[in-house]
Amino acid sequence: MSDRAAIVPSLRRAGSDFRWDGVDHLPYKAGDGAPFRAISRQTLFSDPRLQAELRYFEIEPGGFSTLERHEHMHAVMVLRGQGLCLVGTSVHMVSLHDLVTIPPFAWHQLQATADAPLGFLCLVNSARDRPQLPSADDLSALRADPLVAAFLEGSMKAAPSRCG
Ligand code: MN
Repeated sequence: MSDRAAIVPSLRRAGSDFRWDGVDHLPYKAGDGAPFRAISRQTLFSDPRLQAELRYFEIEPGGFSTLERHEHMHAVMVLRGQGLCLVGTSVHMVSLHDLVTIPPFAWHQLQATADAPLGFLCLVNSARDRPQLPSADDLSALRADPLVAAFLEGSMKAAPSRCG
């Protein structure tokens, strides 16, 4: 186990199109039943000697991440494209190099615009609690804000079978 860290190369070269040498490119949380669409994950840094992970997520045009909350935090930097971001009860337009802090237990979701992918770095604790999905009551409370309701409509319409 301690040897695992030792074999991580000290340099991974950037490839083309937001890929990195030796980094697996994975569909995000495929199969766990959480509502999301058209998003991939690459774990760029994960080492037991450093208590955090840095991932690169990319959401295809019109796609979105899971609407969720949890105790652990995220620090996000947009590296590609633009989109919308829900943090707590605020909706923001985000674009290249914007920084987003997602505090503990804030509802959050990122959505790509219809015409471009949204790629972002996400820094997260390596030891972290399991994300919670919104209940019907949580969704009603979120929708009480018209801006948040309009934002959620974008992902709810796109995946009706997973939000019933
Ligand atoms: Mn999250």
